[in-house]
Amino acid sequence: MTDLRRIDLRREASDILAELEALRAADAPTHGGRVLSYVYDSGVAELDELAGAAARLAQPVNGLDPTTFTSVAVMEAAVVGFARSVFGGDDDVVGSVTSGGTESCLLAVKSARDAWRSARRGTPRVPRIVAPVTVHAAFHKAAHYLGLELDLVAVDPATGVPAVADIEQRLGDDVALVVVSAPSYPFASLDPVADVAAITAPRGIALHVDACIGGFALAFWPDRLPAWDFSVPGVTSLSADLHKYGYAPKGVSVLLTRGRDRQRHQYFATTAWPGYPVVNPTMTGSKPAGPLAAAWAIIEALGEPGFAELIGRAARATAALRSCVEDLEGLRVVGTPVGPLLAVATDDSVPVDRRVDPHHWADAARASGWHLQLQPGLVQADGTRLPHTTHLTVTPVTEAVLPELTQALDDAAEAVRGVPAADGALVVAGLASAVPGGAEALEAAAAAAGDGLDAESAAALLRAAGLLGDGSSGDAPGGGALPERMAPVLALVEALPGPLTERLLVELLARVVEPTRSPIE
Ligand SMILES: *Cc1c(COP(=O)(O)O)cnc(C)c1O
Repeated sequence: MTDLRRIDLRREASDILAELEALRAADAPTHGGRVLSYVYDSGVAELDELAGAAARLAQPVNGLDPTTFTSVAVMEAAVVGFARSVFGGDDDVVGSVTSGGTESCLLAVKSARDAWRSARRGTPRVPRIVAPVTVHAAFHKAAHYLGLELDLVAVDPATGVPAVADIEQRLGDDVALVVVSAPSYPFASLDPVADVAAITAPRGIALHVDACIGGFALAFWPDRLPAWDFSVPGVTSLSADLHKYGYAPKGVSVLLTRGRDRQRHQYFATTAWPGYPVVNPTMTGSKPAGPLAAAWAIIEALGEPGFAELIGRAARATAALRSCVEDLEGLRVVGTPVGPLLAVATDDSVPVDRRVDPHHWADAARASGWHLQLQPGLVQADGTRLPHTTHLTVTPVTEAVLPELTQALDDAAEAVRGVPAADGALVVAGLASAVPGGAEALEAAAAAAGDGLDAESAAALLRAAGLLGDGSSGDAPGGGALPERMAPVLALVEALPGPLTERLLVELLARVVEPTRSPIE
């Protein structure tokens, strides 16, 4: 190898890394338990170091070809074997390591679609996915990408759980897959896996358990739970993310499938081009082996007892937070959460002036450095309304910060008790008055959203809402101007028509990564 100094470098490596460190310092903290979503901190620094060292060793490898880079095959077989064993799978269960939960879900849908089609000699009919409305958005994406119809079943607003009879009503020959969650992300509700399997299996319908968030937690959960994994005979596939409660860096999940023949539908293979034969079990071609190596190393280090110890910590912290919230006047925990997450809603049983809006509560907690996740309310197809909530994902490290966290949650509730929820209609009226053209322009935008509102008009609406900078130097990094308080933004999300909100959010996220103006010389 030649020496870096023989290349006329534009910048010193130390200088570049110092810049990155400064950028990272502005991120939400990934460690220490202050962010209760997105990041999963084991609280064990040596585990992160091991994962980092393993990822570094595998960094140059191309996971595309495990026959050339045999380390990939060995690690993937070991990780899938561990997952199969903890999720109650027998020898008939096989699987793949994927880049994350979304890819696992997409591939579960692809396999089910192709199995369904091949059993019907390639019928041109459009198959359906049936799932509770709480199913992860990855299945909306899968239906969109893969050309299936997503048929959502309403859940009980009090518990977040669907009635099995409502799922049964939707079953038919065009159903390629039923999806249940263990547990669901929005409410931590554990869907009735065994009861659903009892209606899908006799009809020969595939049943996926989305255990992306919960899998590696529930498998080691200290309390007894209803059967939710491959111990239920009708479960045909299961997804579980190693970059969640497997504590691995982002980019690693497993998808397990019962039956080798079923699982082969997951693959894409072609020799119909003049290049190398392509045989891909997952969406990508060339792929990193680093996240796989990190997950493998963590599994080797922890084993089942280590996982159980860490999940024990998260479980104790979850129980403590649950009783903390139950003790806060004006707030309530939604349903009966299962696993290390929960959703918090307003307690409507107390007088109005004692109620706490969960979004104002999250904003108040944010002001003292605790990041909770705001979730919008949703009107279901049957007209019932799922409340707007605040989500907390609890990790092993949370136990170490419980006294500060519960104090912050208490103070935040105190600060906003009696403050009414942001009024969506008022926020929309405010937006309409700020937009050139007023309410009519907003309505026109809503009408156009479906057919493609142009980028400039969408950006103008975002600026009027105060959500996008004007490109001046005072803007937040990336040109966005996210407000201090998110409650009014969520109220806007709930009040505007869905297609317009989606279009505006696309514009916001696209503007955040507008190419940097000063070109690299
Ligand atoms: C996180 C999650 C997913 C999607 O996973 P990503 O890793 O974010 O792509 C799917 N389902 C559930 C229940 C999840 O919590």
